[in-house]
Amino acid sequence: MPRLSEVIAALDALWPPERAESWDAVGTVCGDPDAEVGRVLFAVDPVQEIADEAIALGADLLVTHHPLYLRGTTTVAAGHFKGRVVHDLIKHDVALHVAHTNADTADPGVSDALAGALDLRVTGPLVPENNLGRICELDHPETLAEFAARAAKRLPATAQGIRVAGDPDMILRRVAVSGGSGDSLFDAVRAAGVDAFLTADLRHHPVSEATQRATRSAGPLGLVDAAHWATEWPWCEQAAAQLDEISDRHGWDLRVHVSKTVTDPWSFHHTSPGAPN
Ligand SMILES: [Zn+2]
Repeated sequence: MPRLSEVIAALDALWPPERAESWDAVGTVCGDPDAEVGRVLFAVDPVQEIADEAIALGADLLVTHHPLYLRGTTTVAAGHFKGRVVHDLIKHDVALHVAHTNADTADPGVSDALAGALDLRVTGPLVPENNLGRICELDHPETLAEFAARAAKRLPATAQGIRVAGDPDMILRRVAVSGGSGDSLFDAVRAAGVDAFLTADLRHHPVSEATQRATRSAGPLGLVDAAHWATEWPWCEQAAAQLDEISDRHGWDLRVHVSKTVTDPWSFHHTSPGAPN
């Protein structure tokens, strides 16, 4: 069985921590570098349900995409839910390691996993400077409605489902995808000249402006908004496969798991009576 330090070194080679954004908090949150690791669980969010799952599974290492303490902390007291997670993990000898924006900008990264889940062919990065997002070519042109149906079918189910802005009959040939909040990438999407953009956490004004501008400039842009968790979860499967392969290469006795627990914070939604479509 490998030591935690060996597994972390392998993960750092996949997602070099120095490639994380300066505001980010990636790396090992808790764990003994000398402890043996036999079981690893991958998940998107370091929340209590996931900590409980890691403990029940007998995992020695939990790897999450989102940081536990993005803004730092001066306390890990168990009276706060984050401190509770730290306490429970340490009590059960579970290490926690985070790969966030260093996994976004990696090759393959979070958006490659998203494109793979959607069965899209990647032709390049959306933002070449930091390797964020991916531009994809559709094998056959499809409508925005068909593309949204593809996302609904292929991404893990959430209460939010898929929200779409644009003409459902619009024909798509090239699309951009970005796992997680893609709100800040509209300029890159425009510059890429794609027909649609699939991401998460899109807000009223950027969407409104993008669809307004679209009618007067390059052509209409379809916008597909999936749940943040659903756009990043495919990375867990990709990451688990990558670690499995490393484990095989090293002859490690490592079991690698992916959490299927939906930790998207939205619990349910109602469609208003008389809503359009
Ligand atoms: Zn995220």
